[in-house]
Amino acid sequence: MEMTFAPLLPQLDVKRPLVIAGPCSAESEEQVLATGHALAQQGIKLFRAGIWKPRTKPGGFEGVGVIGLPWLQKLKAETGMLTCVEVATKAHVDAALAFGVDVLWIGARTTANPFAVQELADALAGKDVPVLIKNPVNPDIELWIGAIERIYRAGIRRIGAIHRGFSSADKTIYRNVPQWHLPIELRRRLPQLPIICDPSHISGRRDLIQPISQQAMDLGFDGLIIESHCNPDAAWSDAKQQVTPARLEEILSSLIIRNNVVHTEDLRDLRGQIDEIDDQIIGILAKRMRISREIALFKKEHSMPVLQATRYDEILTRRSEQGASLEMAPEFIKEVFEAIHAESVRKQMEILNQ
Ligand code: PEP
Ligand code: MN
Repeated sequence: MEMTFAPLLPQLDVKRPLVIAGPCSAESEEQVLATGHALAQQGIKLFRAGIWKPRTKPGGFEGVGVIGLPWLQKLKAETGMLTCVEVATKAHVDAALAFGVDVLWIGARTTANPFAVQELADALAGKDVPVLIKNPVNPDIELWIGAIERIYRAGIRRIGAIHRGFSSADKTIYRNVPQWHLPIELRRRLPQLPIICDPSHISGRRDLIQPISQQAMDLGFDGLIIESHCNPDAAWSDAKQQVTPARLEEILSSLIIRNNVVHTEDLRDLRGQIDEIDDQIIGILAKRMRISREIALFKKEHSMPVLQATRYDEILTRRSEQGASLEMAPEFIKEVFEAIHAESVRKQMEILNQ
């Protein structure tokens, strides 16, 4: 589906990165105002706070609910900051809009559920409010784009995506593994769509917020959403990943923002050389596939199985060593040759079964 997006927040005159900051959860009027005022003093224009919290297990703090919405209204009246809230049901959308919330976001667990996203889309039909859509918890780009499409079909044109990392069964240093190739693929598919990085939920820990933010900036992300709390250690949710407004200021001012796109003769020349080499690689791959077709015909004639494990192992080991001697990571070469070999086996199987 062809989608054309409108500028997310044209009323804000901000340079990259667009920053959204605020606590994981609104806890009390005092906490919202203390955190919000400190952030506003640093020039932060968008305040986030969870009002309804999706929790893994019941019985924990599930957000203060609608009583928190007037606190956000008050912060907005006192500072002029725009407010952002997570919505997961029609009732959330209605309440947030009734209290003048400026930006809505859809959480990762909700994006993963098309019924829930459709309910939100129906609730948003005919409204004009920016909606940010977090990636689903599982690394499924079609599900992410599907959620964007559902909101788009409801008539919302001010849409942004938030990359907050993906659940993984493996133990890693991250709370949610970034898998950067997914937001990069999203950018390729929807080049106009602003993408915001959420280093807080990717990392789950304070010390990784800065490096992940820098990585996001280097990859061309448009903004950052970072959890900030006036007293992080005492936070009612996600305490380990929240930073004080003062620390947030340090993090933001440490970021190097590379915005230049320079087109010179030299760059054009280098890209020309890359194009030429890519043409050659494709030609050579085609030649390799033709030879493997001949091998398949030979194996068929002599009733040989397609796969000889020792031969495959020899190819992978030899190529990885060759790559290493030319200063390429053995894992990279292994991946390339695994892909080439898989395609070659697929082709040979086709021939064998003709
Ligand atoms: C949040 O932003 O506080 C949140 C619950 O995030 P996610 O949906 O990414 O887990
Ligand atoms: Mn959180």
